[in-house]
Amino acid sequence: MNVLVINCGSSSVKFALFDGDEQLVTQGKRERLGSDTAQHKETHKEAVAAIFETVAEYQIDAVGHRVVHGGADITQPQQIDQAVLDAIEEHIPDAPMHNPFSKAAIESAQDVFPSVPHVAVFDTAFHARMPRRATTYAIDQDVAERHGIRRFGFHGISHEYAAGIAAEFLERPLNELRLITLHLGNGASACAVEFGRSTETSMGNTPLEGLVMGTRSGDVDAGVLLSLLRSGEFTVDELDDLLNNKSGLLGLSGQGNDLREIQHAAADGDDRARLAINVFAHRARKYIGAYAAAMGGVDAIVFTGGIGENSASMRRRILQRLEFLGCVLDEDRNHDASVHSDQDHALITTPRSRVEAIVVKTNEELMIARETKRVVHATERPTPKTIPIAISARHCHLTEETFATLFGADATPTPMKDLSQPGQYACEEQVTVIGPRNQIERVRLLGPLRKANQVEISRTDEFHLGIDAPVRRSGNVRGSAPVTLKGPEGTVKLTEGLICAHRHIHMHPDDAEAFAVSDGDEVAVAITGGNRDLVLGDVTIRVHENFRLEMHIDTDEANAAELGKNATATLSPVDVDDDAYAVYTELAATAALTRLG
Ligand code: ADP
Repeated sequence: MNVLVINCGSSSVKFALFDGDEQLVTQGKRERLGSDTAQHKETHKEAVAAIFETVAEYQIDAVGHRVVHGGADITQPQQIDQAVLDAIEEHIPDAPMHNPFSKAAIESAQDVFPSVPHVAVFDTAFHARMPRRATTYAIDQDVAERHGIRRFGFHGISHEYAAGIAAEFLERPLNELRLITLHLGNGASACAVEFGRSTETSMGNTPLEGLVMGTRSGDVDAGVLLSLLRSGEFTVDELDDLLNNKSGLLGLSGQGNDLREIQHAAADGDDRARLAINVFAHRARKYIGAYAAAMGGVDAIVFTGGIGENSASMRRRILQRLEFLGCVLDEDRNHDASVHSDQDHALITTPRSRVEAIVVKTNEELMIARETKRVVHATERPTPKTIPIAISARHCHLTEETFATLFGADATPTPMKDLSQPGQYACEEQVTVIGPRNQIERVRLLGPLRKANQVEISRTDEFHLGIDAPVRRSGNVRGSAPVTLKGPEGTVKLTEGLICAHRHIHMHPDDAEAFAVSDGDEVAVAITGGNRDLVLGDVTIRVHENFRLEMHIDTDEANAAELGKNATATLSPVDVDDDAYAVYTELAATAALTRLG
């Protein structure tokens, strides 16, 4: 599969064409783009059109597009459809120098290559599952919510790629490593890659926060912005221009944003150039310390981007005095380190350094091509189908006799709320479940009344009560655990009836046909898209005319996947046994969080 990658930056468009073996067929870059017609600048649109002419002689099977901002909901590369285009459009105000060009490039590419899949790979996606403590600004949360003020992080494609190369070099799985990746180019950011995931990164709501960059300030006291606005010297747009285009290395040095020139000036004794270099290195070192603390340790520090890959002196400045962390630079290795297309990494610490420092040649285009291929293969599988997840809190089903003892001979269950399965409802009535060790109050009764008593609790509840209950399918209570129930009018000692419910998926026969499963089949299901990925085996398929498609798991299982309110999850039955589970449609599921109890 030949994949064309389009990487649209604020003033440049890069492209690369990879063949099926990830070999680069051709690449190129068109720079200094802009709308300045007075200077006859090439526009992004013209640049993209020129690129398509350049690659016209090759067969293109898929196109991968780099998109800077996809927002908090996009955690994965996506095959481009209208919803993805809308998400890119929605985040134009958050990434005004990138998203409009990406969107335009995608639309042109779709015109030129209408019959091949187009995939968007997002800079924000790698960071989309950062913990809330890292994404939240300490401002009034109502204001934050109304304006979508949260930290997103950028450069995710490069951080993820560099972390992967570092793990390969260290010969350890990424999910066992705590890495700090520093992408130091014209834009610059640091990322704490904790066990394979981004858990902190220095760019925030916009790419302006964090490290010192070519022309961007990085961190500035917000009070300074208020003072500058109050001074009357700057309009909002002028302040934007100051912080984004006239700050960073350029603003500090007064020389320009190219580190090489600043280094020459510093060598000639220019004080501002020296200060620029020192502020840049100090800020990066500060973030390394912060991220080591945030992760509770660090195994390796990874440098990438134009400065990270090429400037030995900047790497030395950044790593100086980090011996206390266990990171000891090897001056010779650092000086000689050279990364290029045939050598994608170099070690720059001494053999006795506990924390290794590695230089990695970033290759965002290759990463985009890889992801594009992966998404295209995944979407060639059968169409996704959505299964909602309902989380069952502890509850009980009672017989008429037990109900009468607990609530009085004349009482009848009082329906309170219909449940998703037709004919089932939660009742006003609640009972106390009593075990040898403890009791649990307010356990909800579900109606209608049944032929056998059945109390469904989680494993955690069992420990609390001090009872071992078997995992059983609903209705199969013979020989299950004894338990005492107490109601307002009386107490019943059941000799059996307490179970830990076997997780299951309710299905209408039509769904069963669509998933190619039958009643009683056991499938394994991977829940992704919650805060923690989770594979559940032994999930029973239950098929009935009256059932509505829904997976039922208990609170322990839901907590293990950290399914938050309104979370969405992707369920895919895992290939456990080809004969029994011949379905492996990817099932997207919305965690509807229906509380049954
Ligand atoms: P972008 O973020 O635009 O892709 P790059 O990753 O290409 O930027 O990084 C550009 C930066 O790298 C510039 O500041 C440039 O000065 C710096 N750089 C490139 N080569 C060297 C070098 N040999 N020594 C010092 N700085 C370098």
